[in-house]
Parts: sequence; C-alpha cells; structure tokens
Amino acid sequence: MPKGLVRPGLLTVLEQVLRKHGQLCVCAGACGAEHTSGKCLAHGTEKQPMLAAPFPLPLTEHETASAPVSELRPWCPPCWRKTVKRNIEIRAELRRQELDEAQTLLFDVERPALAASGGGR
Ligand SMILES: [Zn+2]
Ligand SMILES: [Zn+2]
Repeated sequence: MPKGLVRPGLLTVLEQVLRKHGQLCVCAGACGAEHTSGKCLAHGTEKQPMLAAPFPLPLTEHETASAPVSELRPWCPPCWRKTVKRNIEIRAELRRQELDEAQTLLFDVERPALAASGGGR
C-alpha cells in the first residue's frame, strides 16, 4: 500500500487506524495514569477526537511522524498529551546525562591537547 497518499474520498489515517484497531484508547499506563482495567479504553468525542500515534509512543517527534500507518494505534487526547509530556521530560533528562558525559569526555581529551599546543614550534 503506498504511504502518504491522501486523496479526497479515501479514509484518513485516523479512520484507517480506528477501523483496524477499534475506537478505544490503547494506552496501558504509558501516560502515567493507572487505568483500572489495565487499559484506558476511553473513546473520542466530537470535541476531543482520537489521535493516531505509534504505541508505545517513540521518544522523538521525528520517529512519531515517520511511523508507518501499520504501527499507529488510537489514543485518547488526554493520554496522548500526558505521554508526550512525559517523553519531553525523559528527553530532557537524557540530554542532561549526555551533556554530563560530553563534558567529562572534553575534560579528558583537553589535557593532552593543551600539552601538545605548547610545543608546536
Ligand atoms: Zn486514553
Ligand atoms: Zn493513559
């Protein structure tokens, strides 16, 4: 099936996902809420329609946007929003850790570099 082909009259991506996976939210706690039945099972309303997103939701928006339709599942707006927020927090934490590591590395390679620059002539 060709990807990204949207013509009037064809089902939207969300419609395809809802047809294939049902109308209910697939969130099983990724949003941080304890869903009593193990899954959220909320369904969209006219004001708050469901969203189609990969499950589990990838950490980056790029991965989310490039996921094939076959990996998309229905999400209810509150779960999706909370999960996106959690992902942003996780990414920020990962970035902090990467920065820490990068600084440690810099510190390690700087010493020999400084010594070498002294004897350049
Ligand atoms: Zn939900
Ligand atoms: Zn949820």
